[in-house]
Amino acid sequence: MASKFPEAEARRFKNIFVCRKCKSKIRAPNMKVLAGKVKCRTCLSKALRPIRKK
Ligand SMILES: [Zn+2]
Repeated sequence: MASKFPEAEARRFKNIFVCRKCKSKIRAPNMKVLAGKVKCRTCLSKALRPIRKK
C-alpha cells in the first residue's frame, strides 16, 4: 500500500542519487548531498546526480 502515497514515493526518489562516474546508486538525505557531504562508496567521487533525471 506504500505506492498509494505519491508524496512518499517522491521523497524516496529524492533521497537516491547516482554516481556520475561509476553509476552506482547511493541512498542519502537530499540535504547532505547538496551540502557535498556524501561521497560515492565505490569510487569516492562527489559527482552525484538525482536518480530521476534522465
Ligand atoms: Zn562512484
